[in-house]
Amino acid sequence: TTYVYSFGNGMADGDATQADLLGGKGANLAEMSQLGLPVPAGFTLSTDCCNDFLSSGGSYPPELWEQVRSALTAVEESMGMKFGDRENPLLVSCRSGARQSMPGMMETVLNVGLCPDTIPGLIRKTGNERFVYDAYRRLIMMYADVVMEKAEGIEPIDGMGIRSQLDRIMEELKEEKNYVNDTDIPADDLKKLCELFKAQVQEILGIAFPDNPEDQLWGAIGAVFKSWNGRRAIAYRRIEGIPDQWGTACTVQSMVFGNMGASSATGVAFTRNPANGENRFYGEWLPDAQGEDVVAGIRTPNPLNNDTKNDQNAHLPSLEEEMPVVYKDLYDIREKLEKHYHDMLDIEFTIQEERLYMLQCRVGKRTGPAALNMAMDMLEEGLITEKQCVMRVKPSQLDELLHPIVDPDEERKACIVAKGLPAGPGGAFGQIVFTAQDAVNWQKKGKQVILVREETNPEDVEGMRAAEGILTARGGMTSHAALVARGWGKCCIVGAAMIKLDFRTREMRVGGKVYKEGDVVTLNGSKGLVYEGALKMMDATENPRFKAFMSIVDKFRTMGVRTNADSTQDTLIALEYGAEGIGLFRTEHMFYGGDSDHPLFLLRKMILSDTEDERRQALEELFPFMKRDIQSTLATMDGMPVTIRLLDPPLHEFVPHGESHQKELAAALDITTHDVIRRGEELQESNPMMGHRGVRLGITYPEITEMQVRAILEAAAELIRQGKNPMPEIMVPVTCDVKELVFAKKITDRVYADILKAFDLESIDYKYGTMIEIPRAALLANKMAEVAEFFSFGTNDLTQMTFGFSRDDTGGFMSEYLDAGILDADPFQTIDQDGMGQLIEYSVERGRKTRPDLKIGICGEHGGDPASVAFCYANNLTYVSCSPFRIPIARLAAAQAAL
Ligand code: ADP
Ligand code: MG
Ligand code: MG
Repeated sequence: TTYVYSFGNGMADGDATQADLLGGKGANLAEMSQLGLPVPAGFTLSTDCCNDFLSSGGSYPPELWEQVRSALTAVEESMGMKFGDRENPLLVSCRSGARQSMPGMMETVLNVGLCPDTIPGLIRKTGNERFVYDAYRRLIMMYADVVMEKAEGIEPIDGMGIRSQLDRIMEELKEEKNYVNDTDIPADDLKKLCELFKAQVQEILGIAFPDNPEDQLWGAIGAVFKSWNGRRAIAYRRIEGIPDQWGTACTVQSMVFGNMGASSATGVAFTRNPANGENRFYGEWLPDAQGEDVVAGIRTPNPLNNDTKNDQNAHLPSLEEEMPVVYKDLYDIREKLEKHYHDMLDIEFTIQEERLYMLQCRVGKRTGPAALNMAMDMLEEGLITEKQCVMRVKPSQLDELLHPIVDPDEERKACIVAKGLPAGPGGAFGQIVFTAQDAVNWQKKGKQVILVREETNPEDVEGMRAAEGILTARGGMTSHAALVARGWGKCCIVGAAMIKLDFRTREMRVGGKVYKEGDVVTLNGSKGLVYEGALKMMDATENPRFKAFMSIVDKFRTMGVRTNADSTQDTLIALEYGAEGIGLFRTEHMFYGGDSDHPLFLLRKMILSDTEDERRQALEELFPFMKRDIQSTLATMDGMPVTIRLLDPPLHEFVPHGESHQKELAAALDITTHDVIRRGEELQESNPMMGHRGVRLGITYPEITEMQVRAILEAAAELIRQGKNPMPEIMVPVTCDVKELVFAKKITDRVYADILKAFDLESIDYKYGTMIEIPRAALLANKMAEVAEFFSFGTNDLTQMTFGFSRDDTGGFMSEYLDAGILDADPFQTIDQDGMGQLIEYSVERGRKTRPDLKIGICGEHGGDPASVAFCYANNLTYVSCSPFRIPIARLAAAQAAL
């Protein structure tokens, strides 16, 4: 088996399409190398190698030694240096990289190969002793932490890992000698520091730091592989739904040095602004620095160019000003990469004595607004096609675009508490907490929190996830917090340097004011502003770019998108968002809320009636309300189908409980309050969700069905008279047998004939169909379709009955099912394609065999879930129906499924 893939010198064994095998990092290094960009030579050990290593309990495949040796020899030749050589030593980095980027979740070790044998040679060669000991102290710090502690599964004592211990020693030295920055520490102190470090490593971990290049190399490779199963990486995979079996690749690459003094540097950039999408080169850099100094927020990074300057960093020198020639090279690479990848990229670079090297590139994470703006810009620039444009925005990012922002009017009046960098979009407010754990705990208790940290690190991801917004005192636009928040489209402000945090007292101080844990603040993540208290939020719709994008989306969409709407208000919002009909109108909703509670009173009267006469009379009174409601919706949706579901819930849900309601009803029915209570009690059931509800009500009380059908058809007839084009679809819920449908159809046919006569009409364009929400109905779809002209999958109930999980009671066990990996996802959020999906597939096929033009849709939460939408498309559904706010998401998901 080939485990090792080389790159460098304008050549490579792999390319960008091989992220599965080489990890995103390895694949793109290979691609950049092939493009002729200055990439330090190296080789990548494949994800297969990682998986073999991990599954064998930590031993390398036997052929690996030889493959690594020969790849290393090639690197040595191309760099003109030798790994472990006393005179001319080559150093390497060992870098993790999974198929999909997992920012900072796994490990990387730099400067591998430095030891007492190679140090003197490197000093002679570079003439820079300070640099060599700086590299060595970094190696010890990283290696002790990553290879000797984490990879060995050693638990830090009191949260103080070896890394913190070494950091403390370094801080003490700086304090003692009055050094402000790491870069102020001179060579001889660094040299002493390295000895102190090694002694500390021996004392704490009980083993010596391996001062041997070969041991360091293999130790680092193993640690990179093992970091796939680190706690942070696992937590991140759960959140992002990344499979455990992917594994990470390990890239071994020749070191280039950004820490060789003022003419060296390291930096990170985005080819366009990842926060808002602007077509401007955007980045940060640090002179005399290595590796993660920029991302870690150790020093406030300098702006790349004028476009990157902001209130926080305007006084710092830009790369454009400091090293114009190198900046020009970098700018050219930016252009070349965008033309090649046709996308916005996130790049890492290092400058060694004014020579530029590329260390990483990948398609950059971006906020929803940035994704939309970039897609539209690139389409206009001719960089991408309309199809690509549609694929560029993830359905979940649209959600973000429709997310709330701080109401600008309120904001103008509010007083700014602090300012930072706008790292994640939109607005958010909540109670402040100071640890990730508190964020998780408070959120579980139903609180809305803002996580406030000095800076975040990968340990904080779960808390960041739980928070409404994130605020950090340190770090730049490419800091960990910013990267993660943008990936999720979460409101985030970083580098608000004026806030001082005290974790002991759980306080945040700013400008003489003290905010305690639990105090409320509002963040505007698009501007980087923090306010006191909770400001009003508003929706960020009405964006012309959004509308233009959605019209391109619709060019490629073939499946219909309807809405679930119960009121004219919902319907209007849905139309605004592009609904092409109503997939579910629940008649009972007029009884909850609404503008008057008279309909509810009449319904109760009907429910508590004892005789058919009483009931008919109550229904008679209810009729005009029912008709009015339906008519207004049919009128609003003129010319579009409206699926109206007959009364669905069990009647006891409407039984009055308050004394005044009971009295009022008693008076109306001419019975005693006691009777009202007794009749109510008679309706109680032990399992009402599977009790007397849905079509069963219409079987026991056909007059209920009759009244509703009359309301629907009369409403339509009147509209036709007014010259309108109503398209009602009568939907019978909770059916399990075609004979139920036949029963209700007889009533419908009779009422229809009456109405045609009464209104002197030839026909009304209506359909008669059923929900498929009981497995038996799905299994008998061929029979159901003999009467039903359409099906609508009621996936909430169908999920409930397929799993035998009560949908109102999954709270007690669902998270355990997910944590234990018994279920991959909550089936009430995304269609269980393996199980329930079969029922859908089967009934589509059987139903259409009976009736080829059978219209089939889906209503229920799943209609707005992108994966479920794709599943519906794959199964040839006519439309999906979802809540008004999810319509754009469903439209985009449907278009993407078709591409
Ligand atoms: P991550 O996936 O966490 O970004 P990387 O493998 O990209 O980890 O390494 C982090 C940083 O270390 C890089 O951004 C780069 O600055 C530095 N680095 C990695 N390999 C090298 C190298 N061969 N030479 C110089 N710097 C390197
Ligand atoms: Mg990186
Ligand atoms: Mg149902």
